[in-house]
Amino acid sequence: MIIKPKVRGFICTTAHPLGCATNVSEQIHYVQQQDISGDGPKNVLILGCSTGYGLASRIVSAFGYGAATLGVMFEKPGTEKRTASAGYYNTLAFEAAASEKGLYARSLNLDAFSDEAKTEVIDAIKADMGKIDLVVYSLAAPRRQDPKTGEVYNSVLKPVGEAVTRKTLNTDSGEVSEITLEPAQQEEIDATIKVMGGEDWELWMEALDDAGVLADNVKTTAYTYIGKELTWPIYGHATIGKAKEDLDRAAQAITARLSSQYGGEARVSVLKALVTQASSAIPVMPLYISLLYRVMKEQGTHEGAIEQIYRLLVEELYNPNREPVLDEAGRVRVDLKELDDSVQRRVEELWHQVTTDNVKAISDFEGYQEEFFKLFGFGIAGVDYEAEVDPRG
Ligand code: NAD
Repeated sequence: MIIKPKVRGFICTTAHPLGCATNVSEQIHYVQQQDISGDGPKNVLILGCSTGYGLASRIVSAFGYGAATLGVMFEKPGTEKRTASAGYYNTLAFEAAASEKGLYARSLNLDAFSDEAKTEVIDAIKADMGKIDLVVYSLAAPRRQDPKTGEVYNSVLKPVGEAVTRKTLNTDSGEVSEITLEPAQQEEIDATIKVMGGEDWELWMEALDDAGVLADNVKTTAYTYIGKELTWPIYGHATIGKAKEDLDRAAQAITARLSSQYGGEARVSVLKALVTQASSAIPVMPLYISLLYRVMKEQGTHEGAIEQIYRLLVEELYNPNREPVLDEAGRVRVDLKELDDSVQRRVEELWHQVTTDNVKAISDFEGYQEEFFKLFGFGIAGVDYEAEVDPRG
């Protein structure tokens, strides 16, 4: 099959196995170039391991520290006629590279919110790994079925309190327009907290603890975004931000459980805004990210997922020379270059100026689009997109 991108709104419904494999090997290469000292995690469980920040976490753990990794993802395998999802191809490529290095890597394609996933993961840990010393919680999902009640909750991306009118960018057409987002009902806020809040993270840690598969000094981290004034109305102070606040509560509850028994701890880690499948679905974020990339590239501070996670694990969570730098809520901050006043001021100036006519000139919309296609394995140098490939990977 000859595979081309098919974009529908903010999602690409096809993916290219060779392009995805190239993305994975580029990230592995980045990590292998670094000089990492000190002990890192040895047995890592990554929930949401196949794309974005979770994939980067798996790559730094395996290729930076030689860790065995068990990953959970929710991806679509390919058939003779249909491509797999990008995360599926990424995972095949990761596993092949890990196996070449003699590193244990197993991936389970399961709904991480279910009890079955927890049971299968625990069985796999007992059979193959013994105990886990790092659990990365990197799920980004639009819905969750509560395993106890069977009720399905859908997250919404809406402001809280009052309607918000903001500029937004249609990433298909390049049109900049204004959208008004009506405020969420309380029920929608609660549903978003159910999906993207800390409850499932806690359920995972409880299940792993009860099964006796956590190692001494176990660490766990869940990822969040905070941002500043420009994104607060649609992120930080909106439904998704409310859900993310719940991670802080969960981190405390999990630490209380882990600290006396294992000397373990749970931390929320704050990461920068980045083009991923999850962020491209959030209204207004693509415009903010296009402007942010422009400014951070100009200032030489731009980072992608692998650079962010490298800093998180190597410089913060496993730095042999110092404890991680925490904010007032006990969160690890890797997002401070984005929040730097000079960056935010410049993004805001451009934000006021940006229109359909000048978006290409004053933002990094081109870089945004390149990154977006790259997520699905397209537009990558060295890949022959006219050649037949097996969509089963
Ligand atoms: P992503 O869409 O690239 O990855 C999501 C991962 O979750 C994938 O591996 C997917 O397979 C998995 N997944 C989704 N639903 C699942 C389910 N039901 N069961 C099992 N696996 C499932 O997203 P991302 O942007 O890397 O986001 C990961 C985390 O990082 C999220 O918590 C997000 O809020 C946070 N974060 C993202 C950004 C950003 O700008 N992208 C910034 C800061 C923090």
